[in-house]
Amino acid sequence: MIGGVGAGAPDEYHDLMSSDDGLHHDSDFHTARSVEEFRANLAEVSRRIAAAAQRAGRDASEVELLPVSKTVEQERIRLAVAAGCRKFGENKVQEAFRKSEEMADLALDWAVIGHLQSNKAKDVVRFASEFQALDRIKVAAALDRRLEAAGRSLDVYVQVNTSAEDSKFGMPPEELPGFLSRLPQFETLRVKGLMTLAVFSSDTERVRTCFELLRTLRDRALETDPALIGGGLLSMGMSGDFEIAIEEGANCVRVGQAIFGRRAVPDSHYWPE
Ligand SMILES: *Cc1c(COP(=O)(O)O)cnc(C)c1O
Repeated sequence: MIGGVGAGAPDEYHDLMSSDDGLHHDSDFHTARSVEEFRANLAEVSRRIAAAAQRAGRDASEVELLPVSKTVEQERIRLAVAAGCRKFGENKVQEAFRKSEEMADLALDWAVIGHLQSNKAKDVVRFASEFQALDRIKVAAALDRRLEAAGRSLDVYVQVNTSAEDSKFGMPPEELPGFLSRLPQFETLRVKGLMTLAVFSSDTERVRTCFELLRTLRDRALETDPALIGGGLLSMGMSGDFEIAIEEGANCVRVGQAIFGRRAVPDSHYWPE
């Protein structure tokens, strides 16, 4: 694996910091502070992906694991790279761009997975290979203009709000067909499929309903005009619900905390209420 694995915290430091109280709960996230700990977290997530795929009669190779590194600084991201990660998802453009510069020596791929304002489109074009939260024509047009000027293309997922919550970004399901039909005019955008965030709930049936809806919308789009939806991939599932998403057909799961450890920043920072 290329790339300087820099100053990882020594193990003594880790032992001190983790101060295990013996109260392990299944939902605990293990903060990785060494290459070995990243390998262990990645192996565990991969094992759970494989098990969920098997339950659904699917091949685990159909599911991309996208590590989400938001709030994690380069020292630990470099450890994740040494453990085998080559591509990272980030919610905020500024943070992602800064990291891509800091780690330019590693030639990583970056996916922007959070809401974008059209005036930030130029920043995405500078470094990202993928944008997963496309939900407005204005943003598509801004990206296309900048991409064309830069002579490059961008993989995009169209974000749908499947939970009908105001706090979630993404378009209402009924607007998807019309939106997809307008995207071919933006020749630099390569539509890969659809993306969603499920409702945050311990009620797994409500979560599952969101994922089912995204799959249904994808299937309908494939029937109507397959050329409009690229590969028809489904990006859905996070640390708390990726197994359900895989059972419902996910092709990309965006996993942060189960790889990097629990985030101190509350989720409301990313999905304003
Ligand atoms: C943060 C984030 C994730 C990952 O969430 P975790 O709970 O860390 O797995 C997935 N998708 C989006 C859009 C995010 O912003």
